[in-house]
Amino acid sequence: MQIRLNEIPQDGSTWNFDQNHAEMRECLTDLISNQPFTATLLIQPLGQTGTYQITGGVQTQLGEQCSRCGDDFPLLVNEKFSHLLVPALGLERDDKMVKANHYTELNESGPEAIEFRGQVFSAGDFFHELIALAEPLIPAPALTAEGKCTVCKIDVQNQTFHYDETASLKEHPFAGLKNIKLN
Ligand SMILES: [Zn+2]
Repeated sequence: MQIRLNEIPQDGSTWNFDQNHAEMRECLTDLISNQPFTATLLIQPLGQTGTYQITGGVQTQLGEQCSRCGDDFPLLVNEKFSHLLVPALGLERDDKMVKANHYTELNESGPEAIEFRGQVFSAGDFFHELIALAEPLIPAPALTAEGKCTVCKIDVQNQTFHYDETASLKEHPFAGLKNIKLN
């Protein structure tokens, strides 16, 4: 899903994608499989500076495993973004020689600026990265008001979980079944 930046009118362009957009779906399928998604993207040139503002968001869900109990659960992704696309400084290089979408984060605070080379913005790669970054290192479902995991109902308040502990906790309701021989 390639967007030619230099063809965007001064007042900007908006794109809306969902799972019916075959090309975008193809870009995201390794992350979200066949989950539905909606993604919006507004690209607006900032005058003639060569810099663009990109804003929008993506909503979908990822199939995750609870880091407490190992149960599968859908992790809702609802990411909004507002970035500046800033042309890469330095020596002019042949655009064809440079990977079209090599994003470099220039700063970690304030409006996030992303360096780009060339005039093509790969919306598929961008949303792919956005969703991948939304995936937490230690995925876990939400807790109920009582502090229990909404998926496995383990009481997680004031507890530090390690895989071994959660494995034994998860086993607990069925622990007695372990020793039953089926034939
Ligand atoms: Zn759980």
